[in-house]
Amino acid sequence: MSTVFANVSLVSLVHADTFSATLKNVSLYQPQLTLIEKYWASWYIYMSNDILATGLMFFLLHEFVYFSRSLPWFIIDQIPYFRRWKLQPTKIPTIKEQWYCFKSVLLSHFLVEAIPIWTFHPLCETLGIKVTAPFPSWKKMVPEIALFFVLEDVWHYWAHRLFHYGVFYKYIHKQHHRYAAPFGLSAEYAHPAETLSLGFGTVGMPIFYVLYTGDLHLFTLCLWITLRLFQAVDSHSGYDFPWSLNKFLPFWAGAEHHDLHHHYFIGNYASSFRWWDYCLDTEAGPEAKSKREEKMKLRAQRDVKKMN
Ligand SMILES: [Zn+2]
Ligand SMILES: [Zn+2]
Repeated sequence: MSTVFANVSLVSLVHADTFSATLKNVSLYQPQLTLIEKYWASWYIYMSNDILATGLMFFLLHEFVYFSRSLPWFIIDQIPYFRRWKLQPTKIPTIKEQWYCFKSVLLSHFLVEAIPIWTFHPLCETLGIKVTAPFPSWKKMVPEIALFFVLEDVWHYWAHRLFHYGVFYKYIHKQHHRYAAPFGLSAEYAHPAETLSLGFGTVGMPIFYVLYTGDLHLFTLCLWITLRLFQAVDSHSGYDFPWSLNKFLPFWAGAEHHDLHHHYFIGNYASSFRWWDYCLDTEAGPEAKSKREEKMKLRAQRDVKKMN
């Protein structure tokens, strides 16, 4: 029996043999719900198994968002008009390269996500993550998602920086750096150990949050994971448009930031924001390098003056 409605008898009342009949019943008995809440409740009630309903929903959400977000970048790569905004315009990934990447990512998704499908809902129950309809208000969800972006970025910066050291790079992170000019699909082309440890920033930060507050809804997590996937795919797209988000939010990293990381193999370790690389002087690229050298020169001149 699903726990999507607090009223258990309502769940058995609306349950039907097909998804569409369940949806019809939910709409009849719970007309005050929004369309998406009706679909959400019907999914849980129709599945009659919350563990499978949550696990499968997250798996399908991941596959759908990741590949459908990568598709426009694949199409853009085939159209020469867009080269003017390509960050490394001479390095267009071939269809063969993209096909290889697609197959590898898909295989790793099946291998890495087989376990979370069965364990995610029990984990949510233990932590007190709610699946009930109706959902929390936007006023509650938006600040939570903003906080997850900030926290994930902290985790990503330090874990990614660590992955660039010796054995971690050689045996794990090197796989992700196969493409010096990344493309959308390559966002999750990585060693399973990397997928799990960097992915901890995406799943682990909401876990810390709910452990502290005791209040989080699974729909907020779905929205957060969707936006985080958009961020990851877009930052690997290889394109920087005049309308890209970093043109409006100067602290947003975007493709321009992460493309330099792939190009130079060093610096720009953060995922969503620029502040960690800026403050800790790890920005990538020749411009950042010359700025750093200029700073060092000024410091050396100052020291000489002091000594005199
Ligand atoms: Zn890296
Ligand atoms: Zn990357």
